[in-house]
Amino acid sequence: MLGERQVIVFYDERMLAHCPNADVPFLPGRLDRRVREILASLKVKWTYPEHPGRLTAIKELLERAPIPGLRFETGAPATREQLSRVHTTSYLEAIYALRGRNAWLDVDTTAVSPGSVEAAEVAAGTAIAAVEAVVEGRAPTTCALVRPPGHHAEPVRARGFCLFNNTAVAAAHARAALGCKRVLIVDWDVHHGNGTQEIFWADPNVMLFDTHRASPFYPGSGMLEEVGGGLGEGTTINVPLPGGSGDAAMLKAFREILVPAADFFKPDLVLVSAGFDMHRFDLALNVTEEGFAALTGIVRDIADRHCEGRLAMILEGGYHLESLAQGTRAVLEVLAGAEPAEPPECGTREVAAAAEFHRRAFIPE
Ligand SMILES: [Zn+2]
Repeated sequence: MLGERQVIVFYDERMLAHCPNADVPFLPGRLDRRVREILASLKVKWTYPEHPGRLTAIKELLERAPIPGLRFETGAPATREQLSRVHTTSYLEAIYALRGRNAWLDVDTTAVSPGSVEAAEVAAGTAIAAVEAVVEGRAPTTCALVRPPGHHAEPVRARGFCLFNNTAVAAAHARAALGCKRVLIVDWDVHHGNGTQEIFWADPNVMLFDTHRASPFYPGSGMLEEVGGGLGEGTTINVPLPGGSGDAAMLKAFREILVPAADFFKPDLVLVSAGFDMHRFDLALNVTEEGFAALTGIVRDIADRHCEGRLAMILEGGYHLESLAQGTRAVLEVLAGAEPAEPPECGTREVAAAAEFHRRAFIPE
């Protein structure tokens, strides 16, 4: 029943200071010229898509439509030691050197503003705080509303709006400092979590289950055949899906692939790299709010079955503000105890309606 489970939501205003400015010149390159030409021809002012309004949209909705059982706490910046479990010393030095500056790091997407390095430290530290709260038993489930996001950040490289890999930092902290033995990471962001995959590629104690829109799509990795290596062979599970797959396909992947994999792995902590960009109004994996709720129900059941409900959600992408906020709220309701309904066969219904439309248009009475 809604409200019967306690949920702590971690939110920290220091993350709003990451605000890359569209007027900062891109690194010189063909992409830069092409993007600027297209935007100029459309008379559109380019803005950085991963902006502070993403977090405030979620916060405002939760204040406007509160959820029983939910309370807020703030995070803390991650330390160098905590970040160095998944990023190299030279990479950390390069990022720390950007404090107080505007700069582009990655020719496709990633930039920083003067407050970004601290915001990224707080994002990673807030993911850690969310994990500590569930392991200490202060709440069975937590949700870290963080930005910049993390799952594209690699050990040595910023990518895809990501500086530090928040979820990976939290998983590594759980293993190194909190006594967790087996951490399951579920990454349902529409993009493949290339950074998380790389970090735990050969680690048999961290299982990554990743559904994403299939390549050709950013960042281009996440093929079925990418299953981990060395001792970690088999603990990386990729499920690439065609664009528009919808709730039914996602639920099938979770029920028929994730559930048996989790039952085999027996995690003592479950993390979700929770992006909301597979929403039907965002990057076209055609998932609905009901779909997010049903996926959350499956993950919540896995955590209940294997690790006394220990589950932490960590925000990744989601760029359509309304669906980002509504999707997050739908997830939090299930974490707070609501029973998710089976979502409608979204997509199939649209296709059926389109088929009916075309039948009338093209087939004479
Ligand atoms: Zn994404």
